[in-house]
Amino acid sequence: MKNLLIPKLYVDSIFDINLDELKKRGIKNLIVDIDNTLVAWDKKTAPRSVIQWFDEVKKKGFNICLVSNNTEDRVVKFTENIEIAAFHRAKKPFKTTFYKAMNYMKANKENTAVIGDQIFTDILGGNRVGLYTILVVPIESKEFWWTQLVRKIERFILKKIKKGYN
Ligand SMILES: [Mg+2]
Repeated sequence: MKNLLIPKLYVDSIFDINLDELKKRGIKNLIVDIDNTLVAWDKKTAPRSVIQWFDEVKKKGFNICLVSNNTEDRVVKFTENIEIAAFHRAKKPFKTTFYKAMNYMKANKENTAVIGDQIFTDILGGNRVGLYTILVVPIESKEFWWTQLVRKIERFILKKIKKGYN
């Protein structure tokens, strides 16, 4: 059980994944989570950087498929202007939708990686199927961390200012 929760690779963001290294490992197919992996949960569409990443991934010859536990509405809206197949309400960590996505890409477990931000859905599910699992730091918590830091700095500066007045 414990091993199933451990990703094969842990990176800061999708942009830190070495695609050439994945290729060397024989990976040709990518199953990618949406919320907090590609965008924050409240962002309806993909930013330019993510669209460029999709292009790069495709250019390097990977098949890519989005697999989300979120609703049809969210997933359809997100993929509206990008030509990438997507599965909604995937019920990760259950295996069914991983197999559906692999089937769609004509993939097998040896040549497929899953990329996601959650250990108990993306990583556990991917490991159960026997895929190469890649964990990214959730985008939202990164923003949260950043906001927290900014607030700390703000408080620090405010304290200094107040002291200066006394
Ligand atoms: Mg997620």
